[in-house]
Amino acid sequence: MLDVSGLSKTYGEGRRVTHAIADLSFSVSEGEFVCVVGPSGCGKTTLLRCMAGLLAPTSGRVALRGQVVDGPPEQIGFVFQEYSRSLMPWLSLRDNIALPLRHKALGRDERNRLVEDAVESVGLTGFMDHYPWELSGGMQQRVAIARALAYQPEILLMDEPFASVDAQTRADLEDLVLRVRTAYGVTVVFVTHDIDEAVYLGDRVVVLTPPPTAVQEVLPVALPEPRDQVETKELPEFAHLRAHIFRSIKRKQDDTPDLPAPT
Ligand code: ADP
Repeated sequence: MLDVSGLSKTYGEGRRVTHAIADLSFSVSEGEFVCVVGPSGCGKTTLLRCMAGLLAPTSGRVALRGQVVDGPPEQIGFVFQEYSRSLMPWLSLRDNIALPLRHKALGRDERNRLVEDAVESVGLTGFMDHYPWELSGGMQQRVAIARALAYQPEILLMDEPFASVDAQTRADLEDLVLRVRTAYGVTVVFVTHDIDEAVYLGDRVVVLTPPPTAVQEVLPVALPEPRDQVETKELPEFAHLRAHIFRSIKRKQDDTPDLPAPT
């Protein structure tokens, strides 16, 4: 469904050049939940922005069902890390969630139904007329998820969406994403630096190398469904996968020489 091939991205030029991504190739099948994990600064956000058509790659390409992505495709929804900056403080929940639907030719009833279904799926019915700043961080991130779902994307790209909430809220949000993924039948690409989160959520985990960034390995996750925060994490297979990824990233980091200081 989604193909990333030979993708590279360089920022800046001359002495201020940063090779954010050296060479990335992987693909995502319809209905899959793919987690991309790698150390901070290895280009995960850059990759997602290229996949969303928000950033042009330096070379290589992203293709959606064979069509090169050269601008934001209608089929893609995006949930950003910084929920507090992605919601409009002067709009109620209802209006925040309805905002992207302006671009779709929908009648008022249809639009209201999409908004209400999305709000219900993230458990925020009753907060429709609240403003984002009246809600906790976890609730705000649920609003951002509802906004992406109401748009009915075929693919949801999520950029470290739970990085700034507490551990219990994070676990609740992980389970919420797994539930809405099934309810909406959406394909998910989820970027995180958290190895446990990647293994818990993913059908496959794409492990990235430190810069210059490439795909280190792609691991299938054969853990039983539905996942459970306690039972799944007690399974030997879960422990084995997380240890394997941890060692693999650590080994690569130890093997990677520090970049020479700019002269
Ligand atoms: P990650 O999401 O894995 O932390 P990023 O994609 O944010 O990684 O960044 C990868 C590298 O690219 C980092 O070295 C970062 O400083 C650099 N970078 C990211 N965005 C820009 C930009 N707009 N201009 C210059 N350098 C950037």
